[in-house]
Amino acid sequence: MEKRFVYADNSATTRVCDEAVSAMMPFFTEEYGNPSSIYPFASESKKALEGARKTVADILGAIPDEIIFTGGGTEADNHAICGVARANIKKGRHIVTSAIEHHAVLHTFERLKREGFEITYVPVDENGVVTPEALSAAVKPGTTLVSIMAANNEIGTIQPIAELARIAHEAGAVFHTDAVQAAGHIAINVREMGIDMLSLSGHKFNGPKGVGLLYVKKGTLAQRFMEGGGQEKGRRSGTENVAGIVGMAKALEISVAHMEAEAVRLGALRKKLEAGILAIPHTRLTGHPENRLPGLCSCVIEYIEGESLVLMLGLNGICASTGSACSTGSLDPSHVLMAIGLPHEVAHGSLRLSLGRYSTEEDVDYILEKLPEIVKTLRAMSPVWPGNSDGTL
Ligand code: PLP
Repeated sequence: MEKRFVYADNSATTRVCDEAVSAMMPFFTEEYGNPSSIYPFASESKKALEGARKTVADILGAIPDEIIFTGGGTEADNHAICGVARANIKKGRHIVTSAIEHHAVLHTFERLKREGFEITYVPVDENGVVTPEALSAAVKPGTTLVSIMAANNEIGTIQPIAELARIAHEAGAVFHTDAVQAAGHIAINVREMGIDMLSLSGHKFNGPKGVGLLYVKKGTLAQRFMEGGGQEKGRRSGTENVAGIVGMAKALEISVAHMEAEAVRLGALRKKLEAGILAIPHTRLTGHPENRLPGLCSCVIEYIEGESLVLMLGLNGICASTGSACSTGSLDPSHVLMAIGLPHEVAHGSLRLSLGRYSTEEDVDYILEKLPEIVKTLRAMSPVWPGNSDGTL
């Protein structure tokens, strides 16, 4: 097969869909009014902002007043975690999260630890699941916040969110979920699932980067995060990114409309990819075998380094990642793979191929043509490979 460009890193970010681009355009050019201004010219931006708020609220099972627009997933996570922990100090200083969260959550917890909060990291099982039993053992009187991600960005495991939220509530804690990887890909209804706070980010479902939202259930005690002009009902100051917000709402609307069909299509493509990977000796899949994001294929390929693999795939036109794309630059093995119990040296060979809206069967075929060749080449150079010097067993 001729060299192609294959984007298989949709968990890192996605292409903005055409519909979102079209929806955004007027707010860069003709309709650039500040939504807080009171003259008629600004009314279109204000209308679009509130229309987007209603769209996302309806999709999530929330009411528009419960949606705060943010500058992405990281900001929403920071806001939720610091906001709840600091506002509830009189009740307690114990806060809980899982061992496999994104750094947007983990580093925020670490910051709170330095402020004197007590942190419990709930372990996960070998599939990356936070079990209800593990969470029950972690909460105690004085726990004010439980933050568990809806779906993991490295291994794709989906958590039993409704059950975990129930346990948090029984302990008297607020339940926050980082749904950055889940939103637009699996069904989420904050009311039905008992979620008090939820973060999502536009660029993970074919919307723009640098825009996200935080759902805050009415009545949830949380400190405001940004001081300033009092936008977003005083909870997040700063002139709203109207174009970005409109684009995110449109992208979420489209993703949710095609969610079921996409889950079937991407699930089939992922299974084909997984079967091809497992045909390479000394490989294994990571994450939950069934309860997982439809398009996210995660595995470890033993006796090679994930970084070398990703570089070689890149030279062949294939965009993939090893561990979390947000933590490239670090040579440490992924904390997620360590938490599911993989040995250090095996965790180094992690590969994530994440399919999305624009992925095709030809993309998968091309990956499956190139990957075994690349693995063979790298293993032939590996001092720890127990097979032949040509990379075969
Ligand atoms: N949470 C998870 C699970 C993520 O995967 C990411 C990004 O990869 C983030 C948070 C951060 O989101 P953003 O890039 O919008 O700040």
